[in-house]
Amino acid sequence: MHSPQVTTERSATDALGRDPFHALPAPGLPADSTPPAFDVIIVGCGPTGAMLAAELRLHDVRVLVLEQETEPASFVRIVGLHIRSIELMAMRGLLERLLEHGRRRPASAFFAAIEKPAPADLDSPYAYLLGIPQPVIVQQLEDHATALGAQVRHGCAVAGLEQDDEGVTIELADGQRLRSRYLVGCDGARSTVRKLLGVDFPGEPSRNDTLMGEMQAGAPPEEIAAKVAEVRETDKRFILTPFGPDVYRVIIPAAGVSDRAQPPTIEDFRHQLRVVAGTDFGVHSPRWLSRFGDATRLAERYRVGRVLLAGDAAHIHPPIGGQGLNLGVQDAFNLGWKLAAQVRGWAPDSLLDTYQAERQPVAAAVLDNTRAQLELLSTEPGPQAVRRLLTELMDFDVVNRHLLEKITAIGVRYDLGAGHDLLGRRLPDLDVEPGNLYGLLHHGRGMLLDRTKRLTVGGWADRVDYLGDATAALDAACVLLRPDGHVAWIGDDQQDLDDHLSRWFGKPAD
Ligand SMILES: Cc1cc2nc3c(=O)[nH]c(=O)nc-3n(C[C@H](O)[C@H](O)[C@H](O)COP(=O)(O)OP(=O)(O)OC[C@H]3O[C@@H](n4cnc5c(N)ncnc54)[C@H](O)[C@@H]3O)c2cc1C
Repeated sequence: MHSPQVTTERSATDALGRDPFHALPAPGLPADSTPPAFDVIIVGCGPTGAMLAAELRLHDVRVLVLEQETEPASFVRIVGLHIRSIELMAMRGLLERLLEHGRRRPASAFFAAIEKPAPADLDSPYAYLLGIPQPVIVQQLEDHATALGAQVRHGCAVAGLEQDDEGVTIELADGQRLRSRYLVGCDGARSTVRKLLGVDFPGEPSRNDTLMGEMQAGAPPEEIAAKVAEVRETDKRFILTPFGPDVYRVIIPAAGVSDRAQPPTIEDFRHQLRVVAGTDFGVHSPRWLSRFGDATRLAERYRVGRVLLAGDAAHIHPPIGGQGLNLGVQDAFNLGWKLAAQVRGWAPDSLLDTYQAERQPVAAAVLDNTRAQLELLSTEPGPQAVRRLLTELMDFDVVNRHLLEKITAIGVRYDLGAGHDLLGRRLPDLDVEPGNLYGLLHHGRGMLLDRTKRLTVGGWADRVDYLGDATAALDAACVLLRPDGHVAWIGDDQQDLDDHLSRWFGKPAD
């Protein structure tokens, strides 16, 4: 039995100057039971788990993250943060540090790689793609979470769980048991938590696997470039592109090579390159090799009692359009403040259930758009004809804009009932007095943006900030923003506002 390696020990105060493990009241626990040591245990410190830990810490929730790996991922998968995720990073003051590690690219050609310029006048100051290695995002988010007081323990694989009326007991692979009031499975596509819950994961299995890796090549660069250009003229698909000094990134269909259960080898790559390009370019010395499929699945439930699922644990789809990580981070943003409200005891009835109600349809829509994109990448004549037709249609700004808003998630609208067009949507960053709106949202609280300067957040001031600014560029008198930046109410009537403050933020303080 090995003892888990604890990478982050308890710190005296967190980035907000608080003692992260001061005793919190544990509403609902019987007087004679020992309160669980943690409010929330998160299984998995990928992008979703790390983001969720940070969001919970903004609300003083005692968080432990358990990650089975002891080392950061060896693959250097470059992912793209899309507009909504970039906005979320700006909203929590994380964007500057991510920009240091990434490259801004145009917000275009996202849908099935159809080349069209991004629509003009996107309503976001962050209208670009941020290309950045996934391990960097994970490390930055983990650092942010630990700076806020989250504990992260590496080398801890969760193997079992049981829940009762007061909490969840989990068992680690080494037999150690830990207890918390809530548990969130952010443990990726093969989620142990999802399997232990018995939650179904219906959808389509992988039909086409792809090999991806980074390696050196013996052939001269000019010869490689000429061959790649020659193959591009055919209906064969592969990518072999320079990726740093002497290194090439290779992406090629796996089509029948090696056992899916085994990690791919350099010989698999050589074989496939010979099949597709007629030469293996003398590839050797791989930095890393991986294989991924195009399975598409959606968890039938995101919550079973005190246990919830987020990120790839709840949904998987092919990487086309680069949406999976973005979707997981956005799940975490939606769930964080709701679960915190539940833990802190001020959550209105059913607030936590709005997590599934809002996020499952968003994931279902992403699954659908990846299915559609895959069809459009087929070399069969029918899908190629549809692709040509869509390419023409995208010359209409409304079509191009619709598809971009889908992929970048700035078009997401939660169903909060009928009303103003902004209701349920994200509010873009605005110039306000003082500075910009997102700069005022770093602490993850609600916000009343009041152009009339007549309304008040009254007894909710401990959960909701107030900004009276008659000059804000807003097509509404007053807007109530949730901590995830979505619009919960629009109006100018104090009683109506109070009703909505109760709906989202619980009872007012005395
Ligand atoms: C080739 C490729 C390219 C991609 N490109 C993009 C892109 O451009 N943009 C984008 O948004 N997405 C992209 N994705 C998808 C993205 O990588 C995933 O959606 C993302 O990693 C999901 O994050 P997650 O935190 O939910 O899960 P994961 O990243 O899988 O993290 C889960 C974590 O849980 C840990 N874990 C698992 N089981 C246990 C256990 N029992 N106990 C403790 N810990 C456990 C794992 O070690 C892991 O660290 C791409 C995927 C692929 C394959």
